[in-house]
Amino acid sequence: MKSLVFSVFVFAAVSAQAVGPVCGPSLLEKNVSYARATEICRAEGAQQGREHLLAYLGERENNCRVLNQNKLESDGYRQCFSEILSVSFSVLSCTTSAQRQTEVVNFSRLDFERVIEEHGRVDVPAHVKNIFRTLVHAALKTQSLHPLLTPRWEILGYKDSVANALAGADGQVIASSALWEGKNAFSDGEIAGILAHEIVHVLQMHNLEFGCKTLEWMDADIPLEYAYENFMMDFNPFSERALSRGRISQKNEFEADLKATDILRAAGMDPLLMAQALKKLASITGQGGMSSGSHPGFDDRIKRVSDVK
Ligand SMILES: [Zn+2]
Repeated sequence: MKSLVFSVFVFAAVSAQAVGPVCGPSLLEKNVSYARATEICRAEGAQQGREHLLAYLGERENNCRVLNQNKLESDGYRQCFSEILSVSFSVLSCTTSAQRQTEVVNFSRLDFERVIEEHGRVDVPAHVKNIFRTLVHAALKTQSLHPLLTPRWEILGYKDSVANALAGADGQVIASSALWEGKNAFSDGEIAGILAHEIVHVLQMHNLEFGCKTLEWMDADIPLEYAYENFMMDFNPFSERALSRGRISQKNEFEADLKATDILRAAGMDPLLMAQALKKLASITGQGGMSSGSHPGFDDRIKRVSDVK
């Protein structure tokens, strides 16, 4: 099965290359002009929504000119421009890179270990594990697996009175005990809504998208783990990049809510359970990962999944 996945990936990579020129240092070897190379990179950047790459392209090209006194025919300018193309290539190929995916998986596993260590591990009750298993099975009927993804599905619990669930990069989901215990415990149907939402995050590889976006801001040459950490260290919630991160987060949350309704339906459950789970979360907390700062407001999210059939 593994080799099949691998060959599908290779095929995808080869066919993507065959489509046309790709932004990268090889453009210069093909004698593509600087102007045309910039155009190709800008177009690819725009297509992927890489706003920061677009700004970077303009600024760095300007730097190259200044450094080389506008001598565009010089070796110095060529070298400088080639470095721009290398960085652009790293950024643009990030979400199709097996190496980046591996980094995200390692990072999210470490991150979950930290959360569980901090709060204390708890056993996930059998009925919650069953719901998770049923939903994963249903999800694989509604959504195809990305070639880079080989999920190792697993649900882990940690002790917390704040209801929350988080999705890792390769099928791990962690859930707080508040979902199934205490006075605000969620019904099985509401838990299903929340878990279906997290399963979509895994299948759509939203973590990888975030990682690649962070890398775009930080430094295309560093591992994703350091990019995340550096980003969080100097995180300014009003910076342009933080706002941009918020926009991706919104898009991903809406997508996770909506696709979760497909999973619920495929599992023979009521798709409106997604809206019900969000209403429950909204009623008990303004906190928690499912509703944290970068997430869109509950009202908007509930509205979007309230009329699914
Ligand atoms: Zn989410």
